Amino acid sequence: MAGTMQKITILGATGSIGVSTLDVLSRHPERYSVFALTANTQWQKLAQQCRQFNPRYAVLVDEQAAELLRADLGSGLNECDTQVLAGVDALEQVAADEAVDTVMAAIVGAAGLLPTLAAVKTGKRVLLANKEALVMAGGLFMQAVRDSGATLLPIDSEHNAIFQCMPSGYSANTAGLVQSGIRKILLTASGGPFRTLSPADLLNVTPAQACAHPNWSMGRKISVDSASLMNKGLELIEACWLFDAQSSQIEVVVHPQSIIHSMVEYVDGSVLAQLGNPDMRTPIAHALAWPARIDSGVSSLDFIAAARFDFEQPDLARFPCLRLAQEVAACGGTAAAVLNAANEIAVEAFLHGRIAFVDIARVVETVLTQQVSIEPSVLIDVQAADSEARVRAKRYIQTFN
Ligand code: NAD
Ligand code: MG
Repeated sequence: MAGTMQKITILGATGSIGVSTLDVLSRHPERYSVFALTANTQWQKLAQQCRQFNPRYAVLVDEQAAELLRADLGSGLNECDTQVLAGVDALEQVAADEAVDTVMAAIVGAAGLLPTLAAVKTGKRVLLANKEALVMAGGLFMQAVRDSGATLLPIDSEHNAIFQCMPSGYSANTAGLVQSGIRKILLTASGGPFRTLSPADLLNVTPAQACAHPNWSMGRKISVDSASLMNKGLELIEACWLFDAQSSQIEVVVHPQSIIHSMVEYVDGSVLAQLGNPDMRTPIAHALAWPARIDSGVSSLDFIAAARFDFEQPDLARFPCLRLAQEVAACGGTAAAVLNAANEIAVEAFLHGRIAFVDIARVVETVLTQQVSIEPSVLIDVQAADSEARVRAKRYIQTFN
């Protein structure tokens, strides 16, 4: 694609990943142009982004917010000829439009599944931040990638690191880990803000504390997931699909400095690691330009200032969400969609002060034991498991007060 302008749709443009993506794009106006930007409700932030990047389309899921954005952009005070669309179907439309080369999938949660799949099915280069989409529907998602010939590139820093440490050309579709001489994948975890808290102290942590991650600045949902280690569990399932791995071939290693973003160990004993400052612009720039390299705006890693790297085992007793995800990764089926959906409901309830932090794992475990896992053969199987798990999780949460 060298020499030609890439047209990009950003699903979830107003979020943490969306904003970092626009920052990288703004450094390379000769390489990239913005085709569409989408958000859920945040029309003011989207208006600012439209003024700066002048996309052909802006999408808001919320109809009222779309009305406000239309009025704002149409006020004649600016040089922006963006067309404003509303509703969930418009997300799929701007992801699948034939003018689009690359889609950044950065909506949070299950809401990202259909628009991300629309990009996959139309054979785009898909930059996947929305891990929940792959966790929910991994088998069907990867089948869609194979069928359409889409290029799937991981944005999650760990998966992007693993991708960079893999043999060149490795993909889940062409080879297996063993055939490629790989002994295991080492998935690193910061351990989150509560890594050193006692079980007693974990009982009283607040949403604000959970969202104050020591190394990364992220949206609220993924911040809570990082604090509970559910994020690492989702990433374990994500890695199994992306790299055609068994969960037993992936070891989670806590590395509190978040400088090594993950590693790949080969049968000859070599361990390759990808390192860098904890800044999502690095994996975003990597995936945007791959196989080329472009400036991301991220500063050099200062080894002297970093001084040391520590490693420890995750504590599955204090952080049972990781254990639950490991069990789901090993057994497969719709259990992964159930785990994800119950977790989304539980995290939302925790953020609204309705349940305690430690209740997140209780909600997820209870719903997992209530709901039978099947091998999904069509997307509706996944969507039904997701809806049912949400109902069960809400019902269980109601019994708390
Ligand atoms: P965020 O909360 O900051 O942003 C979410 C974006 O999705 C916003 O633009 C919002 O408008 C949009 N959105 C929310 N709900 C929606 C809905 N129902 N329909 C349509 N759009 C909706 O989240 P984030 O931190 O940018 O994370 C986005 C995704 O990237 C998540 O899946 C997360 O796990 C993943 N991720 C994030 C980071 C990070 O550093 N932030 C790192 C790795 C992976
Ligand atoms: Mg990650």
